[in-house]
Amino acid sequence: MSGANDQTEEREKLIAEVEARVELERGFGADVYRSEAARPARARPEPRPGAHPTGEDPEKRRRLEELRRSMADCHQCALGANRNKLVFGAGRSDARLIFVGEAPGREEDRQGEPFVGRAGKLLTRMIKAMGLERDQVFIGNILKCRPPENRTPTLAEMAICLPYILQQIDIIQPEIVCALGATALKGLLRDPRASIGGMRGKFLDWRGTKIMPTYHPAYLLRAPAEKPKTWEDLQVIMDDLGLPLPERGDRR
Ligand code: SF4
Repeated sequence: MSGANDQTEEREKLIAEVEARVELERGFGADVYRSEAARPARARPEPRPGAHPTGEDPEKRRRLEELRRSMADCHQCALGANRNKLVFGAGRSDARLIFVGEAPGREEDRQGEPFVGRAGKLLTRMIKAMGLERDQVFIGNILKCRPPENRTPTLAEMAICLPYILQQIDIIQPEIVCALGATALKGLLRDPRASIGGMRGKFLDWRGTKIMPTYHPAYLLRAPAEKPKTWEDLQVIMDDLGLPLPERGDRR
């Protein structure tokens, strides 16, 4: 009898998990579900005895914190004068995946955290749709200070601030950098001709790592019809990272 109860409980749990996942992915705009059994995720190595409690590499965390301290009073460009808080970035110091946007907005400048406004909430849903949590990746911007009225960063501003995100990437050594939006892509590549429409969907080789260009969540809020393309880009990343993919017949 207890065996039958266990089976019912197990089935209900499974149904609840599938419903939650479908709900989540519909929220992001990708009406698909994932088959966890279809492909096992590549496991992270077990933390070494005595390692940091989060499993992070303590040396990488130390170097990131040192970098955070070194840039805390930065005024290398004019944006430093008007910021409330410098937005360093957040996430694992040994993340396999880094998301890079262009610059903090009003809410990020107020809180000192990246991607916390409406676009940030959508980014969180995108990350969850990939089967990950925000604290399993690293999220940052090319500019660490907010441009006035959220205007688009200039190429000159991005060139001045670029060494910071490059140092973050060099410390974290991710497998993939996901560039969110054309401005971030132009800043990273230092190429004013870079565009998401023309370059998304395929990895670009860049400084010994891979960049996947895709649309910025703020753009997706204005143009939800582009969400399926973004979901395709995220699945290319998932495939490369060995994360479970949606069943083929259900992909858009
Ligand atoms: S935007 Fe970058 S370079 Fe400019 S002041 Fe802020 S941290 Fe320094």
